[in-house]
Amino acid sequence: MLVFGTRPEAIKMAPVYNSLSYDDNFKVHLCVTAQHRELLDQVIELFDLPVDTDLNLMKMDQDIVDLMTNVMRGLKPVITSLNPDMLLVHGDTMTSVSAALVGFLMGVPVGHVEAGLRSDDLNSPFPEELNRRVTTITASLHFAPTESNRQNLLHNGVSDNRIFVTGNTVIDALQNVVKRIRYDSSHRNRLDQRLNLMLPNWPMKNHFILVTCHRRENFGHGIKNICEAVKKIAGSNPHTSVVFPVHPNSNVAGVVKGILGETKNIFLINPLPYELFCYVLMESRFLITDSGGLQEEAPFLNKPVLVTRSKTERKEALADGTIQLVGTDINLIVEKSNSLLTDIDAFNNMVNSSHPYGTGDASLKIKEALTNAIF
Ligand code: UDP
Repeated sequence: MLVFGTRPEAIKMAPVYNSLSYDDNFKVHLCVTAQHRELLDQVIELFDLPVDTDLNLMKMDQDIVDLMTNVMRGLKPVITSLNPDMLLVHGDTMTSVSAALVGFLMGVPVGHVEAGLRSDDLNSPFPEELNRRVTTITASLHFAPTESNRQNLLHNGVSDNRIFVTGNTVIDALQNVVKRIRYDSSHRNRLDQRLNLMLPNWPMKNHFILVTCHRRENFGHGIKNICEAVKKIAGSNPHTSVVFPVHPNSNVAGVVKGILGETKNIFLINPLPYELFCYVLMESRFLITDSGGLQEEAPFLNKPVLVTRSKTERKEALADGTIQLVGTDINLIVEKSNSLLTDIDAFNNMVNSSHPYGTGDASLKIKEALTNAIF
């Protein structure tokens, strides 16, 4: 049984669902909590995922304790009636940790996809660092994207024979979408038409910075600073645009629209369906973001990332130099952005082809590991 509830989980679990469901050895039940609703549904539609159980738990600005309780209450009868051989959860969301706890408490082995990421700070990202550590404790099988994630798990006392280094399934999803955009011109034309309705002068070909922002620990002061920095960058670079898909969370949208709403070369748009977002990412010059997944996806497409956080669990990209931590310091964000816009060496220093998160076969490796695993 696969359980997930948010947009990033759906993007990263879709390849796992597909690789398992095409294999007759597996019978897969897909349960979504709908911790996100619209953002989740966009991904379900894109990858044509047949949802078997939908707990439909989304509430605007939901309290995380209530969410945890609701996921646990909602899942218990589903697990009781299905009695699955394994519960597969992903990463670090409230859905993942709650589902993992229910699985563990009900005696169902838990498999953790994207296991072993650590920022080493329980408060950042909050509550994700706690969620991923707790999920590790409950899990019988751990699918670690990288060797250093494996080391983190070993350090936490997980047995080596329970860990499988697979790469990150986000690269499987990204590759799937990017290949179609690159090689199917009529498909690309259709995406162009849709983007044309939202963005003047599309395609803007490398002349824009892509910005996203949604992390809980940046709510308030952090988001305000990020917006002030973006406003300065747009003001001093009138020939560069900023494209900013604004997360619907009211802690984000109100501040972003208030500070950036009236600036000519800043385009505030609704969150984009994954396929359109990948196309925009492919055409962008670089990113300013606090997203986790984008620290994996953007380097794969040779797009430098300025990360508006003080710590990251994507330490491989940091070591490669393809992402840089800029926190929420206005001057630092502006300085690094201007350098990427004007200094070709600074830009090239943030591009390399080491691909620490894999090359698109993570979901197959997970399937192989599950086929051979004893749990
Ligand atoms: N994404 C998307 N549309 C958008 C913005 C992001 O499809 O408008 C995708 C992005 O490519 C990445 C995922 O959403 O795969 C990241 O989600 P988010 O930043 O919300 O969560 P995180 O990765 O930080 O957990």
